[in-house]
Amino acid sequence: MKHSLPPAIPPIVHQDLNATQQCVMCGMCVPHCPTYALSQNEADGPRGRIALMLGMAQERLELDSNVIEHLDTCLSCRACEQVCPSKVPYGQLIDAGRAHIHALNPAHKRGMRFVRDHILLRPRRLALLGGMTRMMQRLRLDRLPMPSSLRRLARLAPPLAPAFRPLEIYPVSHPRGRVGLFLGCMGSVFESENLRAAIAVLNAWGYEVHVPRKQGCCGAMHQHGGDTQRGQTMAAKVAEVFQTLELDSVVGVSSGCIAQLKEHSGLKVFELSDFLLRQQPATLPAMRELDRRVAVHLPCTQRNVLRTGNTAMQLLRLIPGLEVIELPGNERCCGAAGTHMLTHPSQADALAVPKVEAFEALGAAQIVSTNIGCAMHLGGGVRKAEATAEVVHPVRLLAEALRAGH
Ligand code: SF4
Ligand code: SF4
Repeated sequence: MKHSLPPAIPPIVHQDLNATQQCVMCGMCVPHCPTYALSQNEADGPRGRIALMLGMAQERLELDSNVIEHLDTCLSCRACEQVCPSKVPYGQLIDAGRAHIHALNPAHKRGMRFVRDHILLRPRRLALLGGMTRMMQRLRLDRLPMPSSLRRLARLAPPLAPAFRPLEIYPVSHPRGRVGLFLGCMGSVFESENLRAAIAVLNAWGYEVHVPRKQGCCGAMHQHGGDTQRGQTMAAKVAEVFQTLELDSVVGVSSGCIAQLKEHSGLKVFELSDFLLRQQPATLPAMRELDRRVAVHLPCTQRNVLRTGNTAMQLLRLIPGLEVIELPGNERCCGAAGTHMLTHPSQADALAVPKVEAFEALGAAQIVSTNIGCAMHLGGGVRKAEATAEVVHPVRLLAEALRAGH
C-alpha cells in the first residue's frame, strides 16, 4: 500500500526528507553507528535508515511497524553525520522522518507523548514523581500499571536535592559581563545542585547571572520525537524570554538543551563548561586540591552537535589535585538519547553497560557528564551494577574546589 502525503504533513517536512538524495550510499557511516553495532542489521544503521526515508520521500514505502521501529531505534546521536563525506544532514533527516510518521499516525508513541507533555514538562509534577521515586521503588509501586516510560523514569530518577528557587539576579561588583542561565524543564527539578554550582562559579568568574522566571522548555524532546514544529516554536519562545534582558550570552548545564537552542533559537548559547573554559578570568580564584580521580563522559550533543570537544576535561584540569581521565568509549552514545532511555530500555541499557564497566575498571570516584539525560541514564547503570558513584556536572567539582579555597 502506498501512502500519499496527506495535507497534515507540513511541506517543510517533505522538503527536509529530500536531503536523502544527497546520500551516495557509500556506507562510510555504518561502522560508526551504535545501533548497527548492536544488531548488525543494515536497517538499524544510517545508510539503511536513509534508504527507508528515501522511500518515504518518494511515497513508495509502506510505513508498517517494522519500518517505524527501525527509525524509532535511531538514537539521533549524529555520529554518522560527522564522518559523512557527502555532508548528509542526518539529524535533520531523522527529525523529518519522525515528523512524517507522526503526521501519518498521530497515535504513535501516545504513552510517551503523554509522559512528556504531562510529567516531564511540568516541573511540579516531575518533582512529585522524583520525590516519590524512592518510596515507589521500596514498595515496588513502580510495578503498578502505568505507561512503561513513566515506570522507567521512576527507576532512573536520581535522588532529589533540596528544591531550587532561584533569584532573578545574582550580582557581582564590577561584572565582566551579564549571562543568562537556562534551567531546563527537567533540569530545574533534577539538576538543582548543578544550577546552584553554576551560579556560584559564574559569579566567581566575575559574571552577573540572570535567571528569568518562566523560561519554558527548549523543545528538544519534541524536535526529536516527531513534533518538529512544536520543538522549534518552544526554542523560539525561550529565545524571546532571554532576548528582553540584554545579556552577553546564555548558558546552560545540559548540552542536549543547549544543542537544541543553538540550532533552533537564534540565541548565543553555550554549554556551561565550554563558556567557563573560554572565559577564564586572568587570575583564577583560589581553589583547594580535590584529591580524587574522575572519569569524564562526553555527550553526543557536545561531540556531534555543539562540536566543542571535551571541554569539561580541560576545565577540570584547572582544579589542583584532581585526576581527570577520559571515559573509554566516548566516541559512542551511552544510549540515553533524550527519551530513548525511556522508550527503548533494552537497547539503552546495552549501550550503557560498557560505559559502566569502563568506569569501574578505572577506579574513579565520580563520572562527570554535561548532559542531564546521560547523567540520569549512567547513574541508573551505576546503581544497577551496584557500584557506588555519583554522576555530576563538571561545575559541581569547580564549585566544591572554590568553596574550599576561600
Ligand atoms: S550518509 Fe554519508 S557516509 Fe552514510 S552512506 Fe550516505 S553518503 Fe555515505
Ligand atoms: S544518529 Fe546515531 S544511531 Fe542514528 S543512524 Fe546515525 S549513528 Fe546510528
